[in-house]
Amino acid sequence: MIRGDIKALSAYHVPDSSGMIKLDAMENPFSMPEDLREKWAKRLSDVEINRYPDADMFELRKKIAKREGLQPEQVLLGNGSDEIIQMILIATVPGTCVIPGPTFVMYNLVSQWLKRPVATVPLAEDFTMKDEHFLQVCAREKAEIAFLACPNNPTGNLWRQERVEKIAKGMGGMLVIDEAYGPFSERTHTDLIAPNVMVLKTFSKVGWAGLRMGYLLGDAEVIAQLNKVRMPYNINALTQASADFLLDHFDLFEKQVEVLRGERERMAEALAAIDGVQVFPSQANFLLFRVADANAMFESLKQAGILIKNMHGSDRLLSNCLRITIGSEDENNAALTALREILI
Ligand code: PMP
Repeated sequence: MIRGDIKALSAYHVPDSSGMIKLDAMENPFSMPEDLREKWAKRLSDVEINRYPDADMFELRKKIAKREGLQPEQVLLGNGSDEIIQMILIATVPGTCVIPGPTFVMYNLVSQWLKRPVATVPLAEDFTMKDEHFLQVCAREKAEIAFLACPNNPTGNLWRQERVEKIAKGMGGMLVIDEAYGPFSERTHTDLIAPNVMVLKTFSKVGWAGLRMGYLLGDAEVIAQLNKVRMPYNINALTQASADFLLDHFDLFEKQVEVLRGERERMAEALAAIDGVQVFPSQANFLLFRVADANAMFESLKQAGILIKNMHGSDRLLSNCLRITIGSEDENNAALTALREILI
């Protein structure tokens, strides 16, 4: 009774990381300070768990909107930005979805679930992309929707601003600019918001991956339409209370992001200095690098207790590439030491 195309898919695989230095999933490595944890726990203990959560979340949307310089009506909340990608693909006209290749897998995967056609615009060998090329594919495929991750995952690069602007203006359908890694990069694109341009953000990478909360910023009218395919109570009461509390302490996470940006630069230099390693420029909280044998490197690092992500085999352009999340100074040093030892 299960659809054949669903049977042919593999379930999203999350590897066992117990006891390992976990540098595979772009999480923030810092745990919360004890005094903040205590206040947070107190706040959570006041949540009325016997009641359904606030369905409309107006105050939370207002708080987020204020940070973004927008109106609460321009904010849609999701159980992770993954859920918002799903809502967008459910609600938009089911024409072709255009994405760069390689990029974040969920755009393609959710399109497949919904039987939406996908057209991929292959990147150049250095992972750059020409706007003319992207727009040509959008026109040829009469694209109803396109996703541009800014910066891109798994490559880490940020498309040039003029390119994003040209695509936003030249695209007939809906453009979703996914800024999951925006806090680690040099810019945001909220000024491009228009009836056909939306900006997707998440709290996962800045330190709240366990909460599962993402948000979409867009034209109020479009957000109202997308809100119709949002599951009632999609953000649970504990997440709502946590987000409300943590947003009042957001400077702490902003400082951590600054530290991680510094660590990214240090790691990029250190990796580039290792013989046999080619590092690609990144504006995210991870680095993509190439070695002679990524499978062997991945296994050896795992043996050394370090879990990263092996990208080899996922796309022709990613042959022998690995992706490492930026961790704490100690975690990064441990990864560097292991890498150097493996390559000797
Ligand atoms: N967009 C991009 C580009 C991502 O890499 C990810 C997570 N890997 C997401 C969205 C989803 O993040 P979340 O569901 O945790 O908000």
